[in-house]
Amino acid sequence: MRKQLVLGNWKMNGALAFNARLIEDLMQGIADGDSGCEVGVCVPFIYVAQVGEALGGSTVRLGVQDISAHTEGAYTGEISAKMASEFGVSFALVGHSERRIYHHESAEIVGVKALRCLEAGITPVVCVGETLDEREMNETNHVVERQLTAVLDCLGVEDATRIVIAYEPVWAIGTGRSASAGQAQETHAFLRQVLDTRSSSLSDVPVLYGGSVKSSSAADLLRQSDVDGGLVGGASLHAGELAAIVAAMPRRTSQAR
Ligand code: PEP
Repeated sequence: MRKQLVLGNWKMNGALAFNARLIEDLMQGIADGDSGCEVGVCVPFIYVAQVGEALGGSTVRLGVQDISAHTEGAYTGEISAKMASEFGVSFALVGHSERRIYHHESAEIVGVKALRCLEAGITPVVCVGETLDEREMNETNHVVERQLTAVLDCLGVEDATRIVIAYEPVWAIGTGRSASAGQAQETHAFLRQVLDTRSSSLSDVPVLYGGSVKSSSAADLLRQSDVDGGLVGGASLHAGELAAIVAAMPRRTSQAR
């Protein structure tokens, strides 16, 4: 059965006092509204130690928003997967569209970053998605297939069983304009096909949806059969919103998959 997962992406937001309050409220909110899915927060590197300590023995997992493609050495400003794993990091976003656009990360670099994560025992959350122009030119499937294939080509099938995918249409990120449930389901079903074509062993790789998810839109998106959870940016800075999105996650039974 595919894992269900809701991850927050704080992006470049936070402050010591704000984070402490957010994590406390989130742990309270999740404990109150547990829906059986895994929950995590991807925080700026500088807050990894603080948030890791605040989460303590909680079920909320710690994540980061990027990872170096290198293992160690003369790469000023970079953080390796091994360093992150020493701080209890469980997830790392790789290939977020803001990294691809502002830092010119190629699909191949994203694949190497995914590999580095797996080597260090961190689950890479591989973000894929098309721009508005690409969608309007009917290029969505082609774009996400190319992005995902570059990562799968970097990993053996065994390694690829341990990734998570996040479909994040670029036009929906931070715009307040989410994909419709139908648009999300259609692309998720296509991504499942790409995985199945690569290997039947990839049938349990979860595919999350990200792009302006809010508590008001979550139920509709998360009930789609090929949507296994959410990657939530802006709304994850509000504990109540993230907890409500987690609570909107439908429980799956093993018969349902
Ligand atoms: C994101 O940053 O991955 C994201 C989905 O952002 P938002 O929810 O704000 O659109």
